[in-house]
Amino acid sequence: MSGLFDLTGRVALVTGSSRGIGNALARGLADAGATVVLNGLHPERLKAAEAAMAADYPTGRISSVAFDVTKDTEAAAGVAWIEENVGPLHILVNNAGIQHRVPMLDLDVADWERVIATDLTSAFLVGREAARHMIPRGQGKIINICSVQTDLARPTIAPYVAAKGGLRNLTRAMTAEWAASGLQINGIAPGYIHTEMTQNLVDDPDFNSWILGRTPANRWGTVQDLAGPAVWLASAGSDFVNGQTIFIDGGMTVVV
Ligand code: NDP
Repeated sequence: MSGLFDLTGRVALVTGSSRGIGNALARGLADAGATVVLNGLHPERLKAAEAAMAADYPTGRISSVAFDVTKDTEAAAGVAWIEENVGPLHILVNNAGIQHRVPMLDLDVADWERVIATDLTSAFLVGREAARHMIPRGQGKIINICSVQTDLARPTIAPYVAAKGGLRNLTRAMTAEWAASGLQINGIAPGYIHTEMTQNLVDDPDFNSWILGRTPANRWGTVQDLAGPAVWLASAGSDFVNGQTIFIDGGMTVVV
């Protein structure tokens, strides 16, 4: 592999990586050589994910730190722990996210705020903390995990649509303020990916056939489909890519 995409010696934090897309992204970065720190909310699930992953990589390459990405003090303590115990943080993937499906007329404010906090504010909190360490070193990569709902709405998921659309513009705002300090901040917008979060949609025959018809590639995405773009955006191969959101959706957002 070209050295352009080699992540050996780079420390990467992937939020929400105890399972699902985050875990696959963590494995993709580790396969490219990175030292990876996993994160999640539930310590036991996170420890189990760390043990499973550590068995597949050389000793010392995989660790974990549990913290709530919606809490600024926890985000600061988590990033400080990494800097002290693992090494200088070079790559941050803001992946932690939740979904909540309710028609807007029935949506509680508390649920709106919970989704916005987890899917949007968290990227500001963890991103700001990472940038505070990266900027003095003059380098760093931040990858914000967006969605096709960054661009397209659907009924019943208003806070998710608002958060993911906001995340693309937060990616641009981070670029406006931090790119001159040597950071690259970009977004990855996955299409419909088969994970625990979408299992109920895969199991719904009507929704499943709608997805297949709506996706030029005629399939659901897999978590592995996202690893290559993440490695690229985490590597020197993307050093002049700034503020972009890359859609990895089998072509869904380019057709009507
Ligand atoms: P999962 O539900 O499978 O996993 C969510 C992860 O986020 C878990 O590790 C969970 O930790 C963690 N998490 C949730 N809340 C917090 C929090 N407050 N603090 C720290 N960690 C938290 O999600 P997916 O893998 O499906 O989705 C991951 C990302 O990808 C999300 O941002 C989602 O919006 C996005 N996405 C998903 C798509 C899909 O088709 N699945 C499509 C497009 C985008 P714990 O295990 O401790 O609960």
